Amino acid sequence: MELLVATHNLHKKEEIQQILGNEFTVKSLTDYNIHEEIIEDGDSFNANALIKAKYCFEKTGIPSLGDDSGLAVESLDGRPGIFSARYAGDHDFAKNIAKVLEEMTGIENRKAYFITVLCYYDENGPQYFEGKVHGNLLTENKGFKGFGYDPIFVPQGYDYTFAEMDPENKNKISHRKQAIDLFLKFLFKSK
Ligand code: IMP
Repeated sequence: MELLVATHNLHKKEEIQQILGNEFTVKSLTDYNIHEEIIEDGDSFNANALIKAKYCFEKTGIPSLGDDSGLAVESLDGRPGIFSARYAGDHDFAKNIAKVLEEMTGIENRKAYFITVLCYYDENGPQYFEGKVHGNLLTENKGFKGFGYDPIFVPQGYDYTFAEMDPENKNKISHRKQAIDLFLKFLFKSK
């Protein structure tokens, strides 16, 4: 079975190929010569994941997968949320972290979660799979691994940040891993 992943990112494609195994052939937008930018203007993670998956399915007729992830901070009413990648600067992780920390100055409630929503789209329409990892935000960066908001995020049950954790260990508990596991369950059950 072929699966089109709504990304140009070779790393993302290969990661999913590895997880799914040989029964699936994972393709990216690049493989289908789709170079248009998909406008992610949804007002939720689900809406953005749907936009990507639906666009790909309608363009190719191949079952498609879209994803959207981000950080939601309780005391900031869920921000940066869907704006996580561009909160202060486009994929400028240092600036984005600085803005979140600045907004949280003096706030005691440091609860936050990372979320991933996957949308699988085929002739039956959309199916959503959500993964979340809860934790707390520090007041300053700690650690150099990972990406995004990892240096300020301490997952529940740990006393160090995602940026201090080995990637293999982060990948065992992450929001992305949880969403992918649910998607896999669905895929292998419905095959
Ligand atoms: P994307 O939808 O996977 O591109 O994620 C959007 C943004 O959310 C990223 O640019 C990061 O700022 C943030 N984000 C998502 N997942 C993670 C994570 O595992 N660690 C840190 N930041 C993340």
